[in-house]
Amino acid sequence: MTTADQFQQHVLPTYGRFPLVPVRGEGCRLWDETGKSYLDFCTGIAVCSLGHCHPRLVEAIRKQAGKLLHCSNLYQIPQQAELAEEINTHHVRMNGKVFFSNSGAEANDGIIKSARRFGHKRPQADGSPRFEVITFTLSFHGRTLGSMSATGQAKIQEGFDPLLPGFRHLPYNDIAALEADIRPETAAILLEPIQGEGGVNTATPEFLRAVAAVCRKHDLLLMFDEVQTGFGRCGDAMAWRMIAPEIKPDAISWAKGMGGGVPIGAFWLSDRAIDDDGTALSSLMGPGSHGSTYGGNPLVCAASLAVLQEIREQDLATHALLMEVRIRETIRSWKLPVIEEVRGGGLLLGIRLNPDLIPAPEGKTPALVVVTKLMERGLLAPPAGPTTFRLLPPLNVTGEEIDEALEIVKEALDELVAAVCDRRENGSMKS
Ligand SMILES: *Cc1c(COP(=O)(O)O)cnc(C)c1O
Repeated sequence: MTTADQFQQHVLPTYGRFPLVPVRGEGCRLWDETGKSYLDFCTGIAVCSLGHCHPRLVEAIRKQAGKLLHCSNLYQIPQQAELAEEINTHHVRMNGKVFFSNSGAEANDGIIKSARRFGHKRPQADGSPRFEVITFTLSFHGRTLGSMSATGQAKIQEGFDPLLPGFRHLPYNDIAALEADIRPETAAILLEPIQGEGGVNTATPEFLRAVAAVCRKHDLLLMFDEVQTGFGRCGDAMAWRMIAPEIKPDAISWAKGMGGGVPIGAFWLSDRAIDDDGTALSSLMGPGSHGSTYGGNPLVCAASLAVLQEIREQDLATHALLMEVRIRETIRSWKLPVIEEVRGGGLLLGIRLNPDLIPAPEGKTPALVVVTKLMERGLLAPPAGPTTFRLLPPLNVTGEEIDEALEIVKEALDELVAAVCDRRENGSMKS
């Protein structure tokens, strides 16, 4: 029985999977079961920040696995404390407290719960709690009932109603719409500084500043979903700092790149006072308010610590910026009409295509056609929405690996565009 057959018989078909069967990885490269190698610019969707099987990460996992894999959050876990200190001191660089989850969706559920707590502590004028979290169209916050309800994409929610109440989706980067629509029950605003899944859309500095100002004016929590953008991916430890560095969020969620491949997520709450008594926001999630059996266990925390230390010590955020420049300059030099725009920042880049120049058969988006062609030619890259594909290489990718990947992109696009032009010419000859 092939792997594909086993999937068909035994695994829920929630994913449209490519036929690729990966078996081994090293750095920027991945091998499938036939021995074919790929440049991996998907990295498990921005997860393998250090590439595959980075020696420092592998060693940290090996060492911890031989000592202690798991013990309960009923006890003090030194690796968890050390990781939280690393995050606060070197990555967030503000006073706050961290909770460890197993995924991004769970981290977002955690900050949504925190917003509800905040809304109880700081109620409406009539004493009833505030509860609403404003999020934005094309956002992606995860697949749990809570994070899916927060997500501003109908296709993610289809057939799952009734959704969790208490969310409203406003247009992204639209300051006037936001300022006009804060309600008495609104408690928080949650957004991705750069929307990943929604097509790689970057918040403008004006918009981010307006969001922060609205939060101050209406006593709302400012919450950033940095699940995809955090920990060096976008050219700074945190993506919002690339856009408006003076902003001080109240809550942040993470996952993906922070573990380099082990399942870990986290959320952070600021220590800032939320009332005249000096109540710290982070104190609202006290004993019994939240939990996770696996969350922050010794194994994943030891692994994540190795990843975050490597990102910091090698200054991979700055390296991501240099590689972004290399990618943008190379693509600009091609002057290809099929590429409409390079979006995003650092090594979360989206290439937006002109859909008229890509031959997309019924039921397939132009992005999917291109991604499939890239895979055939040995480059893995995930789509982001119908007309954009992403480049998400490891943060330590080399210039040579970038050049090799871009060469594949260029050849694949040239081939696809030529096919469309041929078809049009043949069509016009017939008519
Ligand atoms: C991937 C992602 C999530 C969900 O993370 P999971 O680990 O899949 O639950 C949430 N928010 C953003 C911005 C993401 O990119």
